[in-house]
Amino acid sequence: MRGAVLYGPGDVRVEEREDPEIIEPGDAIIRLSATCVCGSDLWPYRGIEPVDGPSPIGHEYVGIVEEVGSEVRNIAPGQFVVGSFFASDNTCPICQAGYQSACIHREPIGAGGAQAEYLRVPLADGTLVATPDLPSHDLIPSFLAASDVLGTGWFGAVAAEAGPAKTVAVVGDGAVGLLAVLAASQLGAERIIAMSRHEPRQKLATEFGATDIVTERGDDGVARIKELTDGLGAHSVIEAVGTQESMLQAIGSTRPGGHVGYVGVAHGVELPGQELFYSHVHLHGGPAPVRRFLPELIDLIRNQQIDPGKVFDLSLPLDQAAEGYRAMDERRAIKTLLRP
Ligand SMILES: [Zn+2]
Repeated sequence: MRGAVLYGPGDVRVEEREDPEIIEPGDAIIRLSATCVCGSDLWPYRGIEPVDGPSPIGHEYVGIVEEVGSEVRNIAPGQFVVGSFFASDNTCPICQAGYQSACIHREPIGAGGAQAEYLRVPLADGTLVATPDLPSHDLIPSFLAASDVLGTGWFGAVAAEAGPAKTVAVVGDGAVGLLAVLAASQLGAERIIAMSRHEPRQKLATEFGATDIVTERGDDGVARIKELTDGLGAHSVIEAVGTQESMLQAIGSTRPGGHVGYVGVAHGVELPGQELFYSHVHLHGGPAPVRRFLPELIDLIRNQQIDPGKVFDLSLPLDQAAEGYRAMDERRAIKTLLRP
């Protein structure tokens, strides 16, 4: 099959790779209908995370089940399925509590490389959610978004306790931040402040439900959020970047007693203890348990109540993955969909 391989910083190639096979009896093999490039793929692409030799890459996927192992009961060949970036059994105490991305049996999907024609998914019964029927072509980008960026933005909004009568601020205007705006809107937030200085992203944030746009960042961004909230700060702040500046901006923008939902993969973040101590904010986040939200998100997409697929502003054949990465790295694209 064809699949993307990251050789080193800035060097993604699509080449022939071994077809994946059933290894464990709980595995499924799926033929991907669509895959995409994640903001978190840019960390190794930019050399900020080390790249150890040629590695298959990609962890966002939807597709048709091709084959299942002997112990798979809930998933069958021919079904259209959505999964997420950690395989999980969905039965252990941690999964039962809704934290499938910390499942005691979790396995990362990234190692198998989802930017490819086929993918092996371990723990298929716990990991994959099938749609009741084969979706029409135009819904596939939205289901693909559910696989990571929508589920992650949703978790950020839930972790930040976005809801009715709340003012929500979102730090980060990548796909996750934009979909956190959509999630906050669906959860009934009264006011949603998107922090972005890029006009096309501001426009999409507004379409997803943002009521205010703040272009300042860092301390100026915090000051602007305070100005908009009677000097108090937002009730709920979603952090969707993962840097020291964005994390402090999120904490500083939150009112005492408020909640920060942090879903940007942290790189070099070190929190000052005293500032944290006096902030009186709740911090909750981490790798999103996307699996928790998939059934609900699949319903919302099937009923066309949400259209998260709008974050894909570039769609390329899989063979042009390198250009897909470049476009996102240079911020020419919000998110690249790849067609295997
Ligand atoms: Zn589990």
